[in-house]
Amino acid sequence: MQTTLILLKPDTVQRSLIWKVIARLERKGLKINGLKMMQLDDAIINEHYDFLMDKPFFPMLKEYMTSCPVVALAVSGENAISVVRTVAGATNPQEAQPGTIRGDFGMTIDANIMHASDSEDTAKVELQRFFKGQDVFEYSKISDDTL
Ligand code: UDP
Ligand code: MG
Repeated sequence: MQTTLILLKPDTVQRSLIWKVIARLERKGLKINGLKMMQLDDAIINEHYDFLMDKPFFPMLKEYMTSCPVVALAVSGENAISVVRTVAGATNPQEAQPGTIRGDFGMTIDANIMHASDSEDTAKVELQRFFKGQDVFEYSKISDDTL
């Protein structure tokens, strides 16, 4: 069982798509263990996207990611890290397959609906970054044995 970190980005909040994206995740059979709205600041973006700091689009990415609150989710399931990446679709929504979240809801690479951790190591670090070890709940669902 893996837990991964998802951020519903500002465009998702602005376009009233929060529930639609969460519905896709739940429909897939992923379990929501944590959910909170957060206003991100420059410091957390510098940390979260430090590998992109040299890119020309970084200032715009930072401005965008801090433009309104985001929704952070801790989501679990078998192979949840790669399953969520698959359900999310390609980084560029114009290239993402129909049926994926980005493929169905997005048109621009900067406003691409959601962030999802890309490995076990990053998931661990990112869950700690956004949830600080708090407000992530382990619980059983009646459907756990049948999913
Ligand atoms: N991004 C961008 N322009 C680019 C490439 C990336 O604005 O040319 C942004 C985009 O929002 C993306 C984020 O930087 O989601 C992180 O990039 P990464 O390659 O990690 O993609 P992801 O893991 O989000 O699919
Ligand atoms: Mg990434």
